[in-house]
Amino acid sequence: MEEIEIIKPDDWHVHFRDNEILKAVVPETTRHFARSIVMPNLVPPILNAKQAIEYKKRIEKVVPSTDYFEPLMTIYLTEETNKEELKSAFNSGAVFAVKLYPAGATTNSDSGVKDITKIMPVLEMMAEIGMPLLIHGEVTDTNIDIFDREKIFIDQKLDFICKKLPEIKITLEHITTKEATLYVNEGNKNLVASITPHHLSLNRNALFVGGIRPHNYCLPILKRENHRQYLVKAAVTGNSKFFLGTDTAPHLIKDKESDCGCAGVFNSTYCLQILAQLFDENKSLKNLEKFTSINGAKHYELNTNKTKIKLIKKEKPVKFLDFLNVSNEKIKIFKPNFPIYWAVQ
Ligand SMILES: [Zn+2]
Repeated sequence: MEEIEIIKPDDWHVHFRDNEILKAVVPETTRHFARSIVMPNLVPPILNAKQAIEYKKRIEKVVPSTDYFEPLMTIYLTEETNKEELKSAFNSGAVFAVKLYPAGATTNSDSGVKDITKIMPVLEMMAEIGMPLLIHGEVTDTNIDIFDREKIFIDQKLDFICKKLPEIKITLEHITTKEATLYVNEGNKNLVASITPHHLSLNRNALFVGGIRPHNYCLPILKRENHRQYLVKAAVTGNSKFFLGTDTAPHLIKDKESDCGCAGVFNSTYCLQILAQLFDENKSLKNLEKFTSINGAKHYELNTNKTKIKLIKKEKPVKFLDFLNVSNEKIKIFKPNFPIYWAVQ
């Protein structure tokens, strides 16, 4: 039987939501991950240290007593974000990073940034103190084709920020394209990217298999196979500029399977098994730990985790649960369209 032991992973991009969903999904993350960067796009969004501290407490309350877990909190950047308040929120340790959503880019991002030049003073301050900037890298102009929005964001916005402020630590989150992979790889040393298990597993055909598949709908949207292959290569080679951010994004089934279904894939439950399968198929299991447990910590200047986790390859494909229960509702658990032989011990 084949097995590997890796340093306990971190998830550098999660959506925990709030209330009943929060309660249901947090243990799905804390079972396998020691730390997570928690996204601030609640309704209303997390805009200041006080709200971040309160949200952190709500998260900690629902972490199972058997799990050690540290949520790293973020603030939702708006054109009104106060520079001095943000600085003290970071220096006090209450807030770890800042999230930039272009207005309207994804779930609950209406109060996002419209004009990048308006936030440059805040970004300059962040560069000075070493506060990380996390970016949802898509333009939101509805005239631009949905499959081109990441590439155009890089050309029009990210390149501007990187050239003006090469000192700022930037994570281009959940990258989906060849262009993003190349731009980050060739960019300055402070620019890195996170990649999700679903963008590594699926191409855009998965949105339309015999009909429309709302549970594979996420933002940025799945891209062509050619792009997926670039992402896989960036991940499995252990390149230090790329690491795991699952972007696990739970929505109740009734909100996904609807006339206007929500964007987001809930993938935390089997994320590590899926990644082990992908790395195994690419004969790169030795690099799995870099992607899940080392590269991100290095970028964020944190120690790697002290504990380890073991994955075992089974004789037969592992059976996945289809749903996570939330009170009387359900959330669909992500499963890719290929068999998974790996299990977490
Ligand atoms: Zn996200």
